[in-house]
Amino acid sequence: MGCLFCNIVEKKVPATVVYEDENTVAFRDIRPVAPTHVLIVPRKHIPGVRALSHEDEQTIGQLFVAARKVAHQEGLEANGYRLVVNDGDAAGQTVHHIHVHILGGRDLAWPPG
Ligand code: 5GP
Ligand code: ZN
Repeated sequence: MGCLFCNIVEKKVPATVVYEDENTVAFRDIRPVAPTHVLIVPRKHIPGVRALSHEDEQTIGQLFVAARKVAHQEGLEANGYRLVVNDGDAAGQTVHHIHVHILGGRDLAWPPG
Protein backbone atom coordinates (compact mmCIF):
# COMPACT_ATOMS: atom_id res chain seq x y z
CA MET A 1 0.00 0.00 0.00
CA GLY A 2 1.93 3.06 1.19
CA CYS A 3 1.41 6.52 -0.23
CA LEU A 4 -0.42 6.75 -3.57
CA PHE A 5 1.52 9.78 -4.78
CA CYS A 6 4.88 8.27 -3.72
CA ASN A 7 3.87 5.26 -5.80
CA ILE A 8 3.10 7.51 -8.79
CA VAL A 9 6.44 9.32 -8.31
CA GLU A 10 8.20 5.93 -8.25
CA LYS A 11 6.21 4.77 -11.34
CA LYS A 12 4.71 1.88 -9.36
CA VAL A 13 1.23 3.23 -10.08
CA PRO A 14 0.50 4.48 -13.61
CA ALA A 15 -0.39 8.10 -14.25
CA THR A 16 -0.33 10.48 -17.18
CA VAL A 17 2.84 12.38 -16.34
CA VAL A 18 3.03 15.75 -18.10
CA TYR A 19 6.19 17.13 -16.47
CA GLU A 20 8.97 15.95 -14.20
CA ASP A 21 12.27 17.23 -12.98
CA GLU A 22 14.73 16.44 -10.23
CA ASN A 23 12.37 17.55 -7.47
CA THR A 24 8.82 17.35 -8.78
CA VAL A 25 6.39 15.23 -10.81
CA ALA A 26 3.18 16.51 -12.44
CA PHE A 27 0.38 14.27 -13.72
CA ARG A 28 -3.25 14.58 -14.80
CA ASP A 29 -5.90 14.24 -12.09
CA ILE A 30 -7.87 11.02 -12.53
CA ARG A 31 -11.15 12.92 -11.93
CA PRO A 32 -10.64 16.32 -13.56
CA VAL A 33 -12.87 19.19 -12.46
CA ALA A 34 -11.67 21.53 -15.21
CA PRO A 35 -10.52 21.06 -18.83
CA THR A 36 -6.96 21.18 -17.51
CA HIS A 37 -6.48 19.59 -14.08
CA VAL A 38 -2.92 18.62 -13.24
CA LEU A 39 -1.50 17.66 -9.84
CA ILE A 40 2.08 18.56 -9.06
CA VAL A 41 3.91 16.93 -6.16
CA PRO A 42 7.38 17.02 -4.67
CA ARG A 43 9.27 13.73 -4.99
CA LYS A 44 9.84 14.08 -1.24
CA HIS A 45 6.97 12.75 0.86
CA ILE A 46 5.51 15.62 2.89
CA PRO A 47 2.00 14.86 4.26
CA GLY A 48 0.63 18.39 3.93
CA VAL A 49 0.99 22.08 4.71
CA ARG A 50 0.71 21.42 8.43
CA ALA A 51 3.75 19.14 8.23
CA LEU A 52 5.98 21.78 6.61
CA SER A 53 9.16 22.88 8.30
CA HIS A 54 11.96 25.29 7.57
CA GLU A 55 13.78 22.47 5.77
CA ASP A 56 11.03 22.31 3.14
CA GLU A 57 11.33 25.92 1.96
CA GLN A 58 13.42 25.03 -1.09
CA THR A 59 11.19 22.07 -1.99
CA ILE A 60 8.02 24.18 -1.87
CA GLY A 61 9.64 26.99 -3.84
CA GLN A 62 10.68 24.49 -6.52
CA LEU A 63 7.14 23.08 -6.54
CA PHE A 64 5.58 26.48 -7.32
CA VAL A 65 8.13 27.38 -9.98
CA ALA A 66 7.55 23.98 -11.61
CA ALA A 67 3.76 24.56 -11.38
CA ARG A 68 4.26 27.72 -13.40
CA LYS A 69 6.19 25.73 -16.04
CA VAL A 70 3.34 23.22 -16.27
CA ALA A 71 0.75 25.99 -16.59
CA HIS A 72 2.81 27.50 -19.41
CA GLN A 73 3.20 24.09 -21.09
CA GLU A 74 -0.58 23.51 -20.83
CA GLY A 75 -1.30 26.84 -22.50
CA LEU A 76 -2.94 28.38 -19.43
CA GLU A 77 -0.94 31.58 -19.11
CA ALA A 78 -2.97 33.71 -21.52
CA ASN A 79 -6.31 33.30 -19.73
CA GLY A 80 -5.09 32.53 -16.23
CA TYR A 81 -5.42 29.56 -13.95
CA ARG A 82 -5.72 28.57 -10.31
CA LEU A 83 -3.34 26.76 -7.94
CA VAL A 84 -5.04 25.01 -5.01
CA VAL A 85 -3.63 23.24 -1.97
CA ASN A 86 -6.18 21.45 0.20
CA ASP A 87 -4.98 20.75 3.72
CA GLY A 88 -6.95 18.64 6.16
CA ASP A 89 -10.47 17.27 6.33
CA ALA A 90 -12.43 20.53 6.12
CA ALA A 91 -10.66 21.38 2.88
CA GLY A 92 -11.32 17.91 1.46
CA GLN A 93 -7.74 16.66 1.40
CA THR A 94 -7.87 12.98 0.45
CA VAL A 95 -4.25 12.20 -0.42
CA HIS A 96 -1.76 12.95 2.33
CA HIS A 97 1.23 13.75 0.14
CA ILE A 98 1.36 17.50 -0.42
CA HIS A 99 0.18 18.49 -3.90
CA VAL A 100 -0.85 21.56 -5.84
CA HIS A 101 -3.86 21.36 -8.13
CA ILE A 102 -3.33 23.31 -11.37
CA LEU A 103 -6.78 24.19 -12.74
CA GLY A 104 -7.58 26.00 -15.93
CA GLY A 105 -9.33 26.01 -19.26
CA ARG A 106 -12.58 27.51 -17.98
CA ASP A 107 -13.73 30.40 -15.82
CA LEU A 108 -13.33 29.47 -12.16
CA ALA A 109 -15.75 30.84 -9.58
CA TRP A 110 -14.44 32.73 -6.56
CA PRO A 111 -14.96 32.16 -3.70
CA PRO A 112 -14.97 28.38 -4.23
CA GLY A 113 -17.72 26.29 -2.66
P1 5GP B 1 -7.10 16.41 -2.60
O1 5GP B 1 -8.59 16.38 -2.37
O2 5GP B 1 -6.36 15.51 -1.63
O3 5GP B 1 -6.54 17.80 -2.63
O4 5GP B 1 -6.89 15.86 -4.06
C1 5GP B 1 -6.52 14.57 -4.39
C2 5GP B 1 -6.74 14.43 -5.89
O5 5GP B 1 -6.13 13.23 -6.31
C3 5GP B 1 -8.21 14.35 -6.30
O6 5GP B 1 -8.52 15.43 -7.19
C4 5GP B 1 -8.33 13.00 -6.98
O7 5GP B 1 -9.18 13.00 -8.12
C5 5GP B 1 -6.89 12.68 -7.35
N1 5GP B 1 -6.58 11.27 -7.39
C6 5GP B 1 -6.97 10.32 -6.49
N2 5GP B 1 -6.50 9.12 -6.83
C7 5GP B 1 -5.78 9.30 -7.98
C8 5GP B 1 -5.03 8.40 -8.82
O8 5GP B 1 -4.92 7.20 -8.58
N3 5GP B 1 -4.45 8.95 -9.92
C9 5GP B 1 -4.56 10.28 -10.23
N4 5GP B 1 -3.94 10.69 -11.33
N5 5GP B 1 -5.23 11.14 -9.45
C10 5GP B 1 -5.84 10.66 -8.34
ZN1 ZN C 1 4.01 10.21 -0.46
